[in-house]
Amino acid sequence: MKEKVIIFDLEDTLTNATHRINLARKGQWDEFHELFILDKPNIPVAMVFAALVRFFPIIICTGKPETGREDVVEWLNGYHLRPHLLLMRLKEDDRPAIEVKADMIREVRSRDMDPFIAFDDDELCCSMYRANGLTTLQIGIETGGNQND
Ligand SMILES: [Mg+2]
Repeated sequence: MKEKVIIFDLEDTLTNATHRINLARKGQWDEFHELFILDKPNIPVAMVFAALVRFFPIIICTGKPETGREDVVEWLNGYHLRPHLLLMRLKEDDRPAIEVKADMIREVRSRDMDPFIAFDDDELCCSMYRANGLTTLQIGIETGGNQND
């Protein structure tokens, strides 16, 4: 029987990347990725990760490039978040995240694992996971709300 595993996205799911989102909007990708290490954890999601990892292997599937692997491992270790696997975008792969992550799901399945739940903030990635049969929870970063609402 295939092993049940859980998929987590990294940026704006496990981390809160709002402090550098303007760089992404301006297409300044190198600067955007360099500031990753300063992300704070998205606490509620990190807590769910810490609870679930006791029962299931967790695989992080991120569109972040492999060139940032060292920073990601350091960041995860710093918050005691220990995934079973960290799958990252290969060098020179500039396809949309949904294509990169769809390939990651195929790779996970080829390793005799059964991904059954995914956590991701991106609408398109969530749709892709659902189309691949995973129950999917879309994450939104809480900003504390607008006092005028
Ligand atoms: Mg994300």
